[in-house]
Amino acid sequence: MEVILQKGKGRRVEDGHPWVYGNEIEHINGNPQTGDIVSVYNFRKDFIGKGYINTLSQITVRLLTRDADETIDKSFFRNRLFSCRAYRETLGYTTNYRLAFGEGDMLPALVIDKFADVYVMQTLSAGMDKWKNIIAEILLEDFHASGVYERNDVPVRTLEGLTEHKGFLSEPFPTRFVMEEEGVRFHVDLDAGQKTGFFLDQKDNRLAIAQIVKNKSVLDCFTYTGSFALFAAHFGAASVQALDISADAIRMMQANAELNGFKQIEGICANAFDVLPQWVKEGKQFDTVILDPPAFTKNRKGIDNAIKGYKEINLRGIRLVKPGGFLATFSCSHFMDVNLFYDTVAAAAKDAGRTVREVQFLNQAKDHPVVWGVQETHYLKGLILQVL
Ligand code: SAH
Repeated sequence: MEVILQKGKGRRVEDGHPWVYGNEIEHINGNPQTGDIVSVYNFRKDFIGKGYINTLSQITVRLLTRDADETIDKSFFRNRLFSCRAYRETLGYTTNYRLAFGEGDMLPALVIDKFADVYVMQTLSAGMDKWKNIIAEILLEDFHASGVYERNDVPVRTLEGLTEHKGFLSEPFPTRFVMEEEGVRFHVDLDAGQKTGFFLDQKDNRLAIAQIVKNKSVLDCFTYTGSFALFAAHFGAASVQALDISADAIRMMQANAELNGFKQIEGICANAFDVLPQWVKEGKQFDTVILDPPAFTKNRKGIDNAIKGYKEINLRGIRLVKPGGFLATFSCSHFMDVNLFYDTVAAAAKDAGRTVREVQFLNQAKDHPVVWGVQETHYLKGLILQVL
């Protein structure tokens, strides 16, 4: 079955992007069903690649290979997952890491996180969803997984005509356990935690705060399970205020603090958009402020509001930093690209009337590889700034 692109379309796909949009297609030969493997050609009939199709989705084809002779079957996925693991092992990952990062690993719409010998999976498109049991088998047979869990309770699946679902793809096993990262212990809840249970993408950035928290007063805003707050305590912070709007998050953060015996962390359950301005008014300040807000937008339409949200939070956050102190600020929305992120934080600093110096630019961890030309793979970015 073949998909022929229109003249003038397909350049992006030929240059390496894996997505073919419905409005780029001239013709589909052979009546493929949802999830079937099709070959994609440009208008000159030059082969571009093979992937799975879903005519219900705006992203109609997602390419899996550029090799016309490669068959998409169980051994294709096994080989791909072996290279995913080889890349991570080369970079020093051993126990807990993202094994597959979708388009970043040429496995579109597939996310797999590994926590020791337990794997959590998301198949976010109809074409990838068809393979989920095969992929679980590979993890059990070839990766010696003790269990595989599916966290497909993600709204984006509805764009693909899929339902939201979570559950075991192996024999049942305990989905709550304790994991350790660089000497800090965390409760992980694969079933009830956000996304796949723990934000592995901030791993390098948790280490990057080491020097700016020692003996300092720290605010960790949007703490969730307290990952930055705990690392701040681990690196010797004098006091840490960990803030989140969700009472559940604060409870998880507190349980994690207890697990590690950290006494200097205080949980605050509040809306950052209310509390930060209030603290600014009261003249409260911290040596170091960490801002790791949610994406604020999951689509391009919401970008203006998201920019407003980021600017507001950064403006307040900057004002809460003592002169000479530090701000670590993040955005996990890929719509907020690097330039927009810099511009927004710069505008916030300007409105706050503070001069900032860039200490370090931060990125998503290396087990979430960014593929050049596939901008959607770059979502998490951050800055450590000194606020003068
Ligand atoms: N820093 C965390 C991840 C943060 S996820 C980590 O490293 O694991 C974003 C968090 O922001 C969620 O826990 C969510 O409950 C919280 N949140 C969302 N809106 C908020 C608001 N207006 N005020 C405070 N917290 C908020």
